[in-house]
Amino acid sequence: MCHALLQDLKFFQLLLRIDEELAGQARAEGCACGGVLHRADYPRKPRGCPGEIRDDFDTRFSFCCNRCRRRTTSMSVRFLGRRVYLALAVVLASGRHAGQMPAAARLSGSLAVPVRTLQRWRQWWGERFPLTPLWQACCARFMPPVATDSFPAGLLERFAGNAEEALMRLLLFLSPITVGAVTLHEGR
Ligand SMILES: [Zn+2]
Repeated sequence: MCHALLQDLKFFQLLLRIDEELAGQARAEGCACGGVLHRADYPRKPRGCPGEIRDDFDTRFSFCCNRCRRRTTSMSVRFLGRRVYLALAVVLASGRHAGQMPAAARLSGSLAVPVRTLQRWRQWWGERFPLTPLWQACCARFMPPVATDSFPAGLLERFAGNAEEALMRLLLFLSPITVGAVTLHEGR
């Protein structure tokens, strides 16, 4: 599947609309202190992002409380934590086929992902993701169980629909780990 998606602008626009919706929900809920949330987006310079849609992907929606000044950052299908690559790149480039060096090199070339970064992503999928509260809470929903050494491809194939729908559903499934205490640095 997949790399055609990176050229499909409609797919990126769909991700933006989902993020706008998630941001609207977060804002409507307001701050825990009862204060009102104001837009205070984080600037982003995403890699693995087609030039045509870069303007739609140059901010991560976030809010600041007018009373206690606390930050609320809404869930996202565009950004996976603080990673500098788009979430879909972290999914697609970490795929099973990317495990073979020539394929990984080719893919990291088309997405401009250094092989070192790809290796860290695969390590995250294999070692850290299975330990996240999200996966701990949800893994039992998948029958038969998803082998953790097949992440993320083995997980992606459990989501219904064509390639775009399945990827969109997986990104939505992952969106809770894009906020909160989970650190997803590139980890140099
Ligand atoms: Zn507040």
